Amino acid sequence: MTAAGPLAVVSGGTRGIGLALSRRLVRLGHRTVALYRVDEDAARAAAAEHGLIAVRADVAEPGSVRRAAERILAEHGTPHVLVNNAGINIDRPFLDLTASDWQRVLDTNLSGPFHLTQALAPAMLAAGGGSVVNIGATTGIRPRANGVNYAAAKAGLLQLTKCLALELAPTVRVNCLIPGMTETEELITRFRLDDPQRRAAVLSEIPQRRIGSTEDIADALEYLVGPLSGYVTGQKLIVDGGQFMW
Ligand code: NDP
Repeated sequence: MTAAGPLAVVSGGTRGIGLALSRRLVRLGHRTVALYRVDEDAARAAAAEHGLIAVRADVAEPGSVRRAAERILAEHGTPHVLVNNAGINIDRPFLDLTASDWQRVLDTNLSGPFHLTQALAPAMLAAGGGSVVNIGATTGIRPRANGVNYAAAKAGLLQLTKCLALELAPTVRVNCLIPGMTETEELITRFRLDDPQRRAAVLSEIPQRRIGSTEDIADALEYLVGPLSGYVTGQKLIVDGGQFMW
């Protein structure tokens, strides 16, 4: 059963961290639109199981975002919460990175939030309030090798957050939620965490000695979209077990 409260929109909201964020918003009483890119059957199954409204949108394609936004506004109304979560990695050494690897990562992780926020923010402003949360990454602050496209996109997203917070104030708050290592299939594959030795090595670098759960990220989202953060905008909130202390 779907919730009946204010509308929320989560990009990439049908799996991984995005699914946990969508589910939390439903639990908080939000009618929640979860945007998915390709797998319609999987998205519809997740939507049915978790009380979400599945809508197709490729955030890297301005036309796809525009159509989805028009549909959301016409069929479901104005969002009170927008979570720009959709993201991809294509990690390679800089000298091996193709122009397409660069562009796809920038289009999804940085231009995606631009297109989606620009499509929905006018209605949010007109409705008189709301909260935008951009999902960043620690590499957007702390450089790492072999992922310059992802790091540049997430660094850009952090600055986009701050500039938007200025422009949309005082009506809409905009913050950046930055997960550390968070247990998703994508992370396990990318960092080979199903190898116990590799996992132990990673844990030794995290003061809290565990990989974050998607619920840890949902807890922080609950704060950023709720009344307890009513005076917080243009900020980053890092949820990483103390791994990087900026
Ligand atoms: P997953 O790979 O598990 O999920 C990514 C999600 O993004 C999927 O729902 C996917 O949709 C969606 N997506 C990808 N490209 C597009 C696109 N062009 N248009 C619309 N949706 C798209 O990743 P995570 O859950 O691990 O990551 C979620 C976010 O958290 C990302 O922004 C990531 O950078 C960030 N993050 C994750 C960390 C981690 O440890 N897991 C650490 C730091 C940041 P579909 O299924 O349809 O492809």
